[in-house]
Amino acid sequence: MKAWRFYNFNDMRLDDIPEPACAPNHVLAQPLCVQPSVTEAQLAQGIPTLAYDRVKRRLETEAPIQLFGHEFCARILEVGRNVTRFHVGDRIAARAKLPCGDCPLCQSERSDLCRQGPVIGFDLPGCFSEVASLPAIALVKVDDKISDSEAACLQSLSDSVAAVETAQLCMGDTVVILGQGSMGLECLQIARLSGAGLIITVDVRDESCNISRELGADHALNATQCDIVTAIQDLTGGNGADVVFECAGGSPKQGMAGHQTLLQAIEAVRSGGKIIGVSWFGGPLPLNIDRMRERSLRYLFPDISTQAHLEHTVRVVATGRVRLKPTITHIFSGIESVPQAFEVTANKGMHKAINPAQVMMLATR
Ligand SMILES: [Zn+2]
Repeated sequence: MKAWRFYNFNDMRLDDIPEPACAPNHVLAQPLCVQPSVTEAQLAQGIPTLAYDRVKRRLETEAPIQLFGHEFCARILEVGRNVTRFHVGDRIAARAKLPCGDCPLCQSERSDLCRQGPVIGFDLPGCFSEVASLPAIALVKVDDKISDSEAACLQSLSDSVAAVETAQLCMGDTVVILGQGSMGLECLQIARLSGAGLIITVDVRDESCNISRELGADHALNATQCDIVTAIQDLTGGNGADVVFECAGGSPKQGMAGHQTLLQAIEAVRSGGKIIGVSWFGGPLPLNIDRMRERSLRYLFPDISTQAHLEHTVRVVATGRVRLKPTITHIFSGIESVPQAFEVTANKGMHKAINPAQVMMLATR
């Protein structure tokens, strides 16, 4: 089969390698639509971000290796021994982080919280190949009403569900979401479903602000046209927001907002309010922690997503309560175009992309 393998950072090649065998507790599947996550696209170029050291070590000691490809929709070709939840022909999506099965959390049936297990695409091969071997425990069956393209977004959406759950919204809470990329737009829609009152979103791109209004924001502010802290204070009667989701921070080299948006989140949230830190900054940053202490701010990081979160994403997308199509801006055809998808996803701002670029894997067969 054809599979993309990494020989180093910035060196991916489409190789012919043997098809994997169908192991117990696994399925063999044919990837239909795959998208690199932003993290994967940055790592492919050797940009330090989440899991950089782990990927670097693997490249140094094991290359060439199949890396990345945990955001996908695939069709099951074969089911391994002990797999009862899935059948040949089912379409599937996955969550990336697996329980290890051995640690005290896994032993006490709280395996959703386990951080020691392997991650699809990082420790195990993902779906940038013609056939993939996938652990059944990570999978969810995709509803017929969901397209291959939408299903490839379910993994990321499940992280947004986890982020909104972390916020523990109260009915009617005023919510601000900084950054209207794919995760910001997902957090907007999930927060709206979960009892949010007034919803104010912020981005620097007019097209993102327009999509944000279309998907339910009461106010979508363009940060290049106003002082957003003042605007949010005005819109909330001087209180600030109950909850701020910070989804815009990150390296300016990749078109992200640096840590400016975190400073804005601290000023836009009400005293005693919550900031949900969705962004990954890629390095240490200066923060006036006493200012946060003085105002009793809660700075929370999202929990990892669980099987229940992933199943919830299937329901909310199948029933039209969350819309993913407006965020999907770039779709390529055929496994050969995977590097193009990495390039667009690593530079979404430059390409005016919202969701990561997708690859319909079978298009050229
Ligand atoms: Zn464990």
